[in-house]
Amino acid sequence: MGAVIRFDNVGFRYDDSSWALRNIRLEAEKGELIGILGANGSGKTTLLKLGNGLLEPREGDVLLKGKSVSSLSRLHIAREVAMVPQETHFYFRFSVLEVVLMGRFPYLGRFQFEGKRDVELARGALEAAHAGEFANRSIHELSGGERQRVLIARALAQEPSLMLLDEPTAFLDLKFKKEIFELISSLVRSRGITALVVSHDIELASKYCDRIIMLKEGQMAFMGSPHEVITSESIKHVYDCAAVVDQNPVTGAPRVSVI
Ligand code: ADP
Repeated sequence: MGAVIRFDNVGFRYDDSSWALRNIRLEAEKGELIGILGANGSGKTTLLKLGNGLLEPREGDVLLKGKSVSSLSRLHIAREVAMVPQETHFYFRFSVLEVVLMGRFPYLGRFQFEGKRDVELARGALEAAHAGEFANRSIHELSGGERQRVLIARALAQEPSLMLLDEPTAFLDLKFKKEIFELISSLVRSRGITALVVSHDIELASKYCDRIIMLKEGQMAFMGSPHEVITSESIKHVYDCAAVVDQNPVTGAPRVSVI
């Protein structure tokens, strides 16, 4: 089977001064979990936005199951790609179930309300994200970690082939960070979803992702398995920070100690 998403020598710039991304070549297969690392401003969010067609490449092409994303309708994209943004603010007191039902929007006709199947799917997504017990609570009443699980449930309710997650663990404490990575990884495995996850949590990304990409100034500096990619040289190159990398004695994943 072909790639779920393919970046074919993609270049993008917001204005004519400099490239935010250049020469991006990446293929993600069904059921693959890929971590995207890199310093602030290296192009990670731009990469995700190109992946769901919010931005159009200036060079090359982004292909979703073999079709150029720029040629697909918003609705078509929304049935294939779900984005979990870094932070989401809700101005109304939506219930958690209502928030998750928003994920069904691409499947509803104009003026059509959600049906029984949509509600079942939304409840199933909440259960899968270990957030079933929050269904009737207001989204405003949840902690950061709980809200993140609900946003992942909303993405699941979209029944996507591809999930794009932008720093889903950014504002969480250590335990919740781990839980979110564990959840993403188990959903990718059980549902065969492909996921690209932007993160600054190098060790957790290394533990859970199949492959890691490191961006530097809009270019792909490194790509490979976590063990291949996470080294003191790559950390120095990408983050400009001296570090020792060895193995976590329990998990075997790369362990990064900043010097
Ligand atoms: P990251 O997610 O790695 O922090 P981004 O993809 O947000 O990086 O940004 C990549 C580059 O593009 C940065 O130099 C940033 O300043 C620039 N950039 C991001 N968004 C915009 C925008 N809306 N307009 C102009 N430049 C932008």
